[in-house]
Amino acid sequence: MRVGILGGGQLGRMLALAGLPLGHTFTFLDPSEKACAAQVGKLLVSPFTTGEALRELISRSDVLTAEFENVPATVAEEVLKERPFYPGTKAFYLGQNRLREKEFFQTLKIDTPKFCAVNTRDELLQAAQTLGFPFVLKTTELGYDGKGQWILRSEKEVSTFEVQAPSIAEEFISFDRELSIIGVRTKNGEVRFYPLVQNIHREGILIQSTAPAPNPPTALAEDYLTRMMTALSYVGVCTLELFQSGERLLANEFAPRVHNSGHWTIEGAVCSQFENHIRAVTGMPLGSTELVEHSVMLNILGTVPPLESILSERGVHLHLYGKSESPKRKIGHVTVVRSDAEGAALEVLKHLNS
Ligand code: AMP
Repeated sequence: MRVGILGGGQLGRMLALAGLPLGHTFTFLDPSEKACAAQVGKLLVSPFTTGEALRELISRSDVLTAEFENVPATVAEEVLKERPFYPGTKAFYLGQNRLREKEFFQTLKIDTPKFCAVNTRDELLQAAQTLGFPFVLKTTELGYDGKGQWILRSEKEVSTFEVQAPSIAEEFISFDRELSIIGVRTKNGEVRFYPLVQNIHREGILIQSTAPAPNPPTALAEDYLTRMMTALSYVGVCTLELFQSGERLLANEFAPRVHNSGHWTIEGAVCSQFENHIRAVTGMPLGSTELVEHSVMLNILGTVPPLESILSERGVHLHLYGKSESPKRKIGHVTVVRSDAEGAALEVLKHLNS
């Protein structure tokens, strides 16, 4: 099939790398002429909202999907008039707004940190009263990798803070660890899940994912994600990020797409998240989500590390996305797949992001 993808970054690139062997071809729409997915398909360079380029993408595609959640509702509607577009308008609508997303969790009785909308100084003061210190303030839209996000620790900090409306205030969770669960659902409602992953973030940016997470709360996490995917009649891969705090498993956010914490599945699972997303949206049977071997994924941020020492470690797989170097930018990742993956990852880590 001809697959159209909104967005042409590394996720689009890895979707195409997984889908090409299945006989599919790919066209991407991205505002940047430097979009790295251009290496593996046809790139249309245009803002997403420009009708002409979007129509060209639609005419070149049998089915469409997106590598990011910020698909404007008008764009989703235009695509859907002509072609199937997965995972679906509602998933994008909820996934691109932190307040709607948290309210969605609440309606499904999925535990979350306490939260409230903050659009004014009065609402910020009220949030501080309700949530106590510290609390987290996030812009409701377009924040990623720690951008548009602040921890407020005292009344003094609140008194000088300039609210960017619309925002959401959240209870600060002193979590034991961060986890994510990645699932995939077909049009017929078949669902499969990858083993739970344990994640480490630094300054809001994912640094490391370990699969499988030790002692994973699998049943509850799968139950949460099943409720979400069923409610959305979801098709494709969906990711739910979680905080574990004692007995509690709290939903932080979801991504209606393939996810950085699932990059390890390329080598560490029988069928990767990218291939399974493409299988789901093109109506092919799903592949196995089983683990092949213990895996640790490390993001490469900013600059290309010394490759010789990294590649000489056994079981190390390197992915460079073909993006230019820039501080903190995700330009690649490394996955270590071996029974002692964590020990080997420590060795690799010494060479990364130094
Ligand atoms: P997010 O963009 O919501 O995924 O947040 C990025 C990272 O900030 C998370 O992975 C956590 O490490 C941290 N964080 C976000 N929200 C909270 C919270 N309510 N309590 C504690 N840490 C948080």
